[in-house]
Amino acid sequence: MDRYNGSIREIIRASFLSTFYYKTKEGGYRPTWRFWRWLSVIVINIAFFISYHVDVQLLEGTMNGSRLLGFHLIDLFTAIETWTATHAIHTNMIIGSATILVFYLLVGGKSFCAWACPYGILSEIGEHIHQKLVSKRVIKERKWNPNIRFAFWAVFLGVTFIDGFLVFEIINPIGILSRFIVYGWSLAIVWVLVILLFEIFYSRRMWCKYICPVGTTYNLLGWVSATKVQWDMDKCDHCGACLDACFENHVIEFVKPKYDKERKEKGKTKQIVINGDCTLCGRCFDVCHTDAYNYTFRLKDLV
Ligand code: SF4
Ligand code: SF4
Repeated sequence: MDRYNGSIREIIRASFLSTFYYKTKEGGYRPTWRFWRWLSVIVINIAFFISYHVDVQLLEGTMNGSRLLGFHLIDLFTAIETWTATHAIHTNMIIGSATILVFYLLVGGKSFCAWACPYGILSEIGEHIHQKLVSKRVIKERKWNPNIRFAFWAVFLGVTFIDGFLVFEIINPIGILSRFIVYGWSLAIVWVLVILLFEIFYSRRMWCKYICPVGTTYNLLGWVSATKVQWDMDKCDHCGACLDACFENHVIEFVKPKYDKERKEKGKTKQIVINGDCTLCGRCFDVCHTDAYNYTFRLKDLV
């Protein structure tokens, strides 16, 4: 992808493979953030696979619950589900969930979705196809209020409380895919493909945006987490490429020129993406031809 010399249309409509690298101003090639994220997801999931098949105690288990070099890690929503179902709090679960809690408070709540979730990369492929179909007017975009996620979150936990069973795990594509990667084929994988088809033909990133309670839990951390995306108004020319690339683009609504006057009056030209829906995926960095985005660590003044 040639984000510095290509037209905005060429950047937005770049082929999927070309979004893994970009041409620098000096004419060389560098990996994009998408490349590093995919590498992160692939390495994590290969570590699960190797630990099970070669019997090394590297990263044992699945995305729901695991042991990293023998140290317990538990996905936060899985921990909440388990507590809701069993009404019991075990020491290992406290250690595992507290570790994950602190980790994502530091690196960014929803960074889980972009940097670790195996369904996330499938969903990105689906999103690319979806965007192509929308631009060719084969299908139309459908949007709902993303706050519907909180209703799903409460319903899944409510049913778990009544049933005493981790109901959501039957349909959780993250757990299904993770078990598929580690333990092999199961018919449940068909359900993951059904979700993906809905995301391709019905609504962009539908599962992640409107349903997934795992992402919703990380959203809550995201609002207060330390690592954030920062945007610089002085660099931005309002081309809109980042708004097109970001599937949670309500979090960067502020790049629109209508907010410039207010910002200038306040003398505030840099803005942090506060909204917990930002996955720190770096897609906005990858398409921005003025390098208006960067990561910032809000605790840096303390360390
Ligand atoms: S931040 Fe970059 S990609 Fe987004 S509108 Fe401004 S110049 Fe365009
Ligand atoms: S604002 Fe940027 S980093 Fe955050 S979700 Fe959107 S594209 Fe990804």
